[in-house]
Amino acid sequence: MKTKLIDFSKYSSMGIGPSLEVAILDECSSDYKDHYLIGSCNNLLIGNNPPKLMLLSKKYDYIKIEDGVLKIGAATPSGKINSFCKKNNIANFEFLSHLPGKLGGLVYMNAGLKEYEIFNSLIDITTCDGVKKKEEIAYGYRYTDIDYPILEASFELTYGYSQEKVTMFKKMRSNQPSTPSAGSFFKNPEGDYAGRLIEAVGLKGKRVGDMEFSHEHANFLVNHGDGKFEDAIYLINEAQNRVKQEFGIDLECEVVILERNF
Ligand SMILES: Cc1cc2nc3c(=O)[nH]c(=O)nc-3n(C[C@H](O)[C@H](O)[C@H](O)COP(=O)(O)OP(=O)(O)OC[C@H]3O[C@@H](n4cnc5c(N)ncnc54)[C@H](O)[C@@H]3O)c2cc1C
Repeated sequence: MKTKLIDFSKYSSMGIGPSLEVAILDECSSDYKDHYLIGSCNNLLIGNNPPKLMLLSKKYDYIKIEDGVLKIGAATPSGKINSFCKKNNIANFEFLSHLPGKLGGLVYMNAGLKEYEIFNSLIDITTCDGVKKKEEIAYGYRYTDIDYPILEASFELTYGYSQEKVTMFKKMRSNQPSTPSAGSFFKNPEGDYAGRLIEAVGLKGKRVGDMEFSHEHANFLVNHGDGKFEDAIYLINEAQNRVKQEFGIDLECEVVILERNF
């Protein structure tokens, strides 16, 4: 099994995590069954003792048009997808100009901005368990029930790349901090906003060590440089406990926490 040494304090968008050997998935095999698949770690908080990790090989980094369908390998970064769509005048992927991740992570999370989600133009996915049509997948807001590594996804091909939409997505981002984070940390509970609740319980701008619920946007848990996993966990627990006590609402993490002792 090939492996690659990754320093997660540099690789992950939160800038937290140890250096670890990560297995490279080139072909589906039962050897990888006890490994957790990562993409580009824009939605992960890596602890000091995470499970065994694996990453798709470069073989899955491609984008092409075949039989009138857009086919994208799961290791393809969002920036590359957006550039391809711009160059070939393809619509519906403009939101990826301002959304970090690789295709596999984007599909698994049903990532998006407002009503623009990756599932909107999805046709099917190819996984280590075969092809699954969109209709066979349960999905919703930042949720899918996909339980096998995604290798490729096919999308409807619609022409008409919109530079206006790119400008609109850039504007939507303007109130968000540029300090390292994993984007929104908690999912918005139905009919409310996680950021509003965190602010209401007095945690907007709360800093422990180098970790802070950003003073710019309370639902962004940002790292000012040398943030520690333990400090992040302290703040997460504090937010969940206070919001439960004051509002009776369970704040659910959108970011996945990878730590065996958590
Ligand atoms: C500044 C910032 C802003 C963000 N804004 C948004 C936003 O507006 N909207 C939004 O939806 N998200 C947002 N995010 C979160 C993030 O961009 C998305 O969740 C993205 O889909 C993560 O992709 P990734 O490759 O980094 O996945 P990772 O973070 O590496 O993994 C995320 C999950 O996907 C699974 N996964 C990864 N690859 C595969 C695969 N091939 N097959 C099956 N499962 C896989 C992992 O097991 C994990 O559970 C933001 C993040 C940052 C840092």
